[in-house]
Amino acid sequence: MHVYTYCPVCGSPLTTAEIENRTRKRCPSCQWIHYENPLPVAIAYTVNDHNELLVVRRAHQPGYNEWALPGGFIEAGETPEEGCLRELLEETSLTGTIDNLVGAYHRHTDLYGSLLVIAYKVIITSNTLRINHELFEADFYPLEEIPTINIPLHKQIIQEAQSHEHLRSLR
Ligand SMILES: [Zn+2]
Repeated sequence: MHVYTYCPVCGSPLTTAEIENRTRKRCPSCQWIHYENPLPVAIAYTVNDHNELLVVRRAHQPGYNEWALPGGFIEAGETPEEGCLRELLEETSLTGTIDNLVGAYHRHTDLYGSLLVIAYKVIITSNTLRINHELFEADFYPLEEIPTINIPLHKQIIQEAQSHEHLRSLR
């Protein structure tokens, strides 16, 4: 998140004020308020037609060298679903369709500050897996054989997606 010291509108030094029950920076000249909002991220819980889960080993921070689910920042003008499928395509060359929303989460990272994370279940529609520079490796695993996921949020998304599946199977 960009942190301002000077007003980006008029250049005056910012002061702090209590606004809407939060301490915020404000411009004393033009009244511009520095709202701090989370950056939106889309994550793909991606399965193939054998119901195997796609996991990737990250080649960048945060979570360098950790096994994770693919995903990334949503771009301006994109729907969260489009961002999710684009990130999947960029990182793995896989195309897919959105099956359902797994959940929406908040996460704090030192690198990017506050994140709003939106996770979807994606079903792939192509089988050619080819990773880009953001990953060391990626593959589909049966659920009971996936590598250890240490990133708490990704663990949570996997658990919640699986409990959705379980509930669906009972209907
Ligand atoms: Zn100003």
